Order: sequence, then C-alpha cells, then structure tokens
Amino acid sequence: MTMRSTRRQFSASALAAMTLVTLPKRLMASSQSFAGGKLHSFSDGPMNLPIESVFYDIFGDDRQKYLKAAKISDGIWRRAVNVNLLEVGERKILFDVGSGLNFLPTLGELPAALDAAGVDIGTITDVVFTHAHPDHIWGILDDFDDLLMPDAAYYISQAEWDFWDSDDAVSVMVPGRESFAVGAKSRFDKLRDQISFFKGGDEILSGIEAVDTSGHTPGHASLLIHDSAGPVLIAGDALTHPVISIEHPQWHDPADMDREAAALTRKRLLDRLATDKIGLAATHLPAPGFGWVESNQSVWRYIAADS
Ligand SMILES: [Zn+2]
Repeated sequence: MTMRSTRRQFSASALAAMTLVTLPKRLMASSQSFAGGKLHSFSDGPMNLPIESVFYDIFGDDRQKYLKAAKISDGIWRRAVNVNLLEVGERKILFDVGSGLNFLPTLGELPAALDAAGVDIGTITDVVFTHAHPDHIWGILDDFDDLLMPDAAYYISQAEWDFWDSDDAVSVMVPGRESFAVGAKSRFDKLRDQISFFKGGDEILSGIEAVDTSGHTPGHASLLIHDSAGPVLIAGDALTHPVISIEHPQWHDPADMDREAAALTRKRLLDRLATDKIGLAATHLPAPGFGWVESNQSVWRYIAADS
C-alpha cells in the first residue's frame, strides 16, 4: 500500500474517535480500522518522571542533549502510556496492561478507560506482553492482587519470562529499581498456569507475528499485525520518543537494559518500518501513539497519524 493511503486510513480512524467526544479527554480512545477488525489506543494515564530518575547516569552536556531533543524545560519527563486493544473476529486482544495502582499515582487508568469506551474487561480473550516492566505488566492485578482478567490467555516471549523469572533478575537491576524485578516475579506467579511462550517469528495468534526487539529488556518483543489493509507494528518500548529514539536511534536510552543492543534493534526496526511502510503503534509516543516512519536521506522521522 502507498504512504498516501496509509495516511488516509489513519485520518479515518481519527474521525472514528470523535464518536467518544463526551468522555473526559484522558479516557478517550482512538481507533483505526483494519480489513479484519479495529485497533484501539487507550490511555493508562500520564507518566511523569523527574529527569534525575530518567537520566540517572547521564550528566552535563550529554543530558542537555536529551532535554533539548525532548523539549524538557521544567525538569519533568512527560510521556503517554498507550495501551492497544485489537478487536478481530471473536477475539479481543490486549497488548500490555498498564501499571495498575502500585507503580505511579498518575497511572492505572486502563480499566476506567476501557469501561468508559464500553469494553467489558471480562471479555478480553488474550493478553500479549511486549515486556515485563511495571508500566506494561503490573496492571494485570486488581485491588485484591487477583487477576483482573482471569479467563484470558496470556503470551510473553520465552526470553523475557526466563529473565524475570530468574532469582538473579533483582541483582542486575539499577539501584532503586529492584521493585521492577520483584513486581514482575510476583505477577508471573499469578500467570504461571495460563501463560504461553513465543519467540521472534512465531505466529502467536492468527495474523499476529512476534518480532524480536530485545535490548530494552532481554526478551522484549513487538507484535506485527498482518492485515490486508496494511501491516501495523505494536512496538512496545522498542521506540519510545519521536526525536530521541527515531531521529537519533544511536543515542543510548538510559531506560534500556542493554543500550548497545537496543540501539541496533531501533535501527533495524526503523529501516523495516520505513521500507515496508508498516504502521506504528507505540506505548510512549504522544497519544494515541499511532503513526508511521519515513526515511529521508538516511534520517528517520516519525509522522503522527493525526498530524
Ligand atoms: Zn514502558
């Protein structure tokens, strides 16, 4: 398909979102249509972090480079947390689940956003994780630490599971982030009996292919939705910022566990997205996080769907 038709397709989806204008803006969903179904973007709430915690080991001019690229002037790194739901046939497939109530006070709004859009969380059939960081997996639990979606099937990459399920995970966390490992393991304990594992290249569900995008975490995966209207990649945290990770993929992102591997993954992914004209849906790109990547004289640029 051509880039032009991709843009039209995304514009139509923006119109679809207008049906929900009576909702508070933070709970509004955006949607795009496929030949075979609909892909929605819900917000789990804004993620606001002091820059000292984000750029904890990047100082001086190096830090200024990031702050300038991200236009941060007040010491706060503000990012969206978009959670995608694919409705196709009888299935409702959620990609990641947000953070629930125990990570940051501004997050954990996914259940309210689903409810506001008329989606009964109990009807979600499948949950596919990109990785096991708190803002992507902690939200599987309710106030009583039981599964919010007890009847769903769950999927994660084998490498991601093996890393966070290991007793060693906590010892390799950056100081102050030990809770990431403890929190992932406690969620895994709830999922152990109903989770399936995949690796890059596997077709997890009909038309949904796993893409190995490790680097951000040891088993990070993105999910490529194949559709006759054009493919879309659920990128997770393989690409997190329109300027920092897309225009400067070689810059090290302090959130990446293996910074060299993550940079290589970004370059490989951006090349594929631009060359194959694959639509992009990503967790931390500005809400609703739908867009695509264009390559212009070896510089990649992010084009938001609503721009
Ligand atoms: Zn994230």
